[in-house]
Amino acid sequence: MAINQIKEAHIITDSRSVLQALDNINNIDPLIIPFRNSINRLDGKIHLHWIKAHAGFAGNERADVLAKSAINKPSIDIQVNFTPTIVKRLLHKHTMAEWQTRWLQSIEGREVFELYKEVKENRIQGDFFLNQLITGHGTIGTHQARIFNKSPSCQCGHPTEDRKHIIYQCPQWNNIRS
Ligand SMILES: [Zn+2]
Repeated sequence: MAINQIKEAHIITDSRSVLQALDNINNIDPLIIPFRNSINRLDGKIHLHWIKAHAGFAGNERADVLAKSAINKPSIDIQVNFTPTIVKRLLHKHTMAEWQTRWLQSIEGREVFELYKEVKENRIQGDFFLNQLITGHGTIGTHQARIFNKSPSCQCGHPTEDRKHIIYQCPQWNNIRS
């Protein structure tokens, strides 16, 4: 069947960032535009669906296998005329979009999410004390209580030593806070 005879089609992907890019008319990504144009050229109804990756959907697993087997092919099917700089920039853009999507959807690290809803590379750092405050983990009382069943109270006498108490209230840190 020729492609313009298709009356209705369902395209299923595990990449939410690609769907968002297709949906956003302002997105002029050179990898997205040809795909969007070919969809627009079709007369039939095209449905785009998102499914979770690595969740055991047979078609999705098969697509992953095929994608991986492509790297073993002796020749390439499509020549893409991008410079390494452009490819790097595009990959970076896609990676950041994917990271942001995962961060919004994750159920992990929601205490940090309260503080930082947007992902940023310059926030990746290894400060021992600052990271305890940001995550609420480490020696903070509420974390010690949750993990080791210790008392959640603060040395100042407050019944719960959580990060809000440390940052906004605890008199022990008045000097640093001011
Ligand atoms: Zn305190």
